[in-house]
Amino acid sequence: MSRKNSFNIIICILLMSIFIASCDSNTDSVRSFSPDITEGESNSESEAPIEPVITNEPMPTSQITPQITDIPDDADPHIDEVEYEQMEVHFIDVGEGDSTLIKCGNEAMLIDAGTPDKGTAIRLYLKKQEIGHLKYLLLTHSDKDHIGGAASVVSNIKIDNIFMCRYEKDNDVYLNLINEINYKNMTWTTPDVGTELTLGDANITVIAPNREYDNPNDSSIGVIIRHGEDSFIFTGDAETPAEEDIVNNGLDLTADVYKAGHHGSRTASSDAFLDKINPEYAIISCETDNKYGHPHFEVLEKFKNRGIKLYRTDKQGTIIAYSDGKDIAFNIDPSEDWEPGTIVESDESASTQVKEAFAEASLAPPEETDSRIIPEVEDKPEITYVLNTNTKKFHYPSCDSVNDMKEKNKQEVTLSRDELIEQGYKPCGRCKP
Ligand SMILES: [Zn+2]
Ligand SMILES: [Zn+2]
Repeated sequence: MSRKNSFNIIICILLMSIFIASCDSNTDSVRSFSPDITEGESNSESEAPIEPVITNEPMPTSQITPQITDIPDDADPHIDEVEYEQMEVHFIDVGEGDSTLIKCGNEAMLIDAGTPDKGTAIRLYLKKQEIGHLKYLLLTHSDKDHIGGAASVVSNIKIDNIFMCRYEKDNDVYLNLINEINYKNMTWTTPDVGTELTLGDANITVIAPNREYDNPNDSSIGVIIRHGEDSFIFTGDAETPAEEDIVNNGLDLTADVYKAGHHGSRTASSDAFLDKINPEYAIISCETDNKYGHPHFEVLEKFKNRGIKLYRTDKQGTIIAYSDGKDIAFNIDPSEDWEPGTIVESDESASTQVKEAFAEASLAPPEETDSRIIPEVEDKPEITYVLNTNTKKFHYPSCDSVNDMKEKNKQEVTLSRDELIEQGYKPCGRCKP
């Protein structure tokens, strides 16, 4: 083969290579319009969020499931919010007394148990609510309108923890309860202020009593129950001195729902206390035409002036609050009735009732014989003291402790204060004779 031919062949091969190469690149450009490419287009969109449904609007917590794994990192932070169990707070209508059932998840707690005649009604209420087991029975203090039905509850329902205040009494209702607790081989304790407890996914903080008191009402155990963003405060019958101590103990007292202290009595719900709680709702538990005149005008005025929505068992019966950890709903609209209670006496115990009303109003008690007519305050009645020969204390006849006293220890006298002290008697710390 000549050199020229060889050269031509090489040129030929080169030209053919160039031609083939150009054909290949054409093929590529044709392919770029093939359906396969649409996959590529789709892939290029995959960099956008997978779930365009998730907007910046907060999602209802009820729709959030715990297994959200494919949410982009930059999703709304609200999506991490916890879903809370349903909590229900039942302010049971027990007449002149207190009893509140709190259900959260599968756990339940009862705060107070009304008067002795309400024990069965409370048990039936618990049964209807399918409560056969209480995690806590909290008896705020030892007065009959709070521990009255407790013995019946203790004897019939399984209870994990019983809390009572340290103020003991020597009346039949109190001793009967202690006997029942002993019979069940249980014990009771007084939780310290600051103690934290749980009920379902709710947290309970003990806020009272902050010290020892002469008055059983001030000795009340107080708690705040916080469930997500919702909160409820209970202080039993704590009066102003105990409220002052609660305010000064430095705990966060803000609460949406305030179970009005001492049945709406003017001896509780002081302004300083309400300032700290700043409630949206107040619940008053009392009886229509009760002997104390609860709720008192002054307390209702405070609530009204503060724009607090009012609920009252004397006018509305049992009141139920529902908390989902974000909002609180009620089974009924707030009360439109802002009428204070009027003191109504029953025939058989008119004497005691008038004296109790006087004690409530911090006035001198009326004379024993003239009990049905409230005398002028200027007309200072002759004072008759009542002795407890067991505890060696003397009381005004109007003092609650007199009702709680055993008959065998009770003695009415007309002696002067000095004469009694000379005989070794000490004035009652509650009625302060
Ligand atoms: Zn009470
Ligand atoms: Zn009380």
